[in-house]
Amino acid sequence: MGEVLVGARIMLGQRVRLVGLLSDQSFNGKLGRTVKFRSDKQRFLVALDDGCTKSCAPKNLEPAAPQPVPERISTDGFDFSNGRAPLRDDKNDSFFPCAVDWDPRTDHDLRGYVAMEKYDGIRAMWEGPRGGFRTRGGDQANKNLIVPSASFARLLPSDLRLDGELWSQRGAFEEASRFRSGGGDPEERWAPMIYKVFDAPSVPGPFVSRLAAAEATLCALAQAALAGGEPRRVHVAQTAACEDLATAIALRTRVESFGGEGLVLRRAGSFFRPGKAADSRDVLKFKTWHDSEARVVAWVPGKESLWVETVENGTLFKVSAGQRTWLARGAVITYKYNGVGAVDGGPRFPSILKVHDAGCECDACGKAASERWPVSATWRLAPSGASLERVGERSGERLVCMLGLRAASLAE
Ligand SMILES: [Zn+2]
Repeated sequence: MGEVLVGARIMLGQRVRLVGLLSDQSFNGKLGRTVKFRSDKQRFLVALDDGCTKSCAPKNLEPAAPQPVPERISTDGFDFSNGRAPLRDDKNDSFFPCAVDWDPRTDHDLRGYVAMEKYDGIRAMWEGPRGGFRTRGGDQANKNLIVPSASFARLLPSDLRLDGELWSQRGAFEEASRFRSGGGDPEERWAPMIYKVFDAPSVPGPFVSRLAAAEATLCALAQAALAGGEPRRVHVAQTAACEDLATAIALRTRVESFGGEGLVLRRAGSFFRPGKAADSRDVLKFKTWHDSEARVVAWVPGKESLWVETVENGTLFKVSAGQRTWLARGAVITYKYNGVGAVDGGPRFPSILKVHDAGCECDACGKAASERWPVSATWRLAPSGASLERVGERSGERLVCMLGLRAASLAE
């Protein structure tokens, strides 16, 4: 649990809020209460006024201030009536609800949340009335639906839209992304695939009600279609109540122990809202490490690393590439990192997690294909490939770039 401890200083007598346990004792009803800090004996995780989390011993328990009631998001303005996912004005906006990273150091309140395993496959929206799956990065005109094999389609409802992940098994993302490009018998290609359903956007009501409706429909279809104990290839992902940090860490550890990626935490009472909203806490990712997409710019001469630029803003940084230094300029990768550096704000210990295939339809590959990849306005790679130089600067004034240094922070 070292990752939730930060270098905050607690003064004796300071009041802090209890958010989790360092050992596997029960909470005894103390969760969410304010404690007065008395000693360094590390027993509990507490939240400080400045948003940091630190361990300490609980003494003098006092009731915490009441929590704000979770925001209810209206579904007004989203038109489901024509059987299509709601679109926004911004053409590049995704209609899939996007998860934001959950940072337990600054954000403690998980009351009313459920946890699901995070599946690493192809995010796909089942467009029931249209008989196909829509993926991220696919065009808004929605021409390129993925049509499942006949036996797979029998397990899917014609009158519901479902959000989920087309997935085969843990750690097999590259296989999962390849299954659709192969030719041959559709039944053979679809045989290893599983559709993990985690939302039903066209069902009105809060998240848990939508999920229950999807489960009832899918169970009925499975009973009608399956014979001889065939495993269920379309099913609702399992959920578990997860209302505090200790439970979240325990569930995440369990998922990671069998090779899973981490957790998605969802607010049980939240309404469906498409797209990415930084202010929304409805869907949260909780992983030991984070990941994002970047594009290869150059090989770092003599090193097992590559210069890459982020999909968010074109920031250049070095990523450890191991045996993958052969990757060509322009290749899209997913890299993982351990949070951002306290000093430079760049990703810490970035390394390549996976390489995207040609024809991949994720957001990043969509940007790369349509020349919408952002370019760092301030910094570019020096011709030697070993350093960054300021755009428009004389070549004698190059600055050596430290690993992961953000171009924006260099500009100061
Ligand atoms: Zn991709």
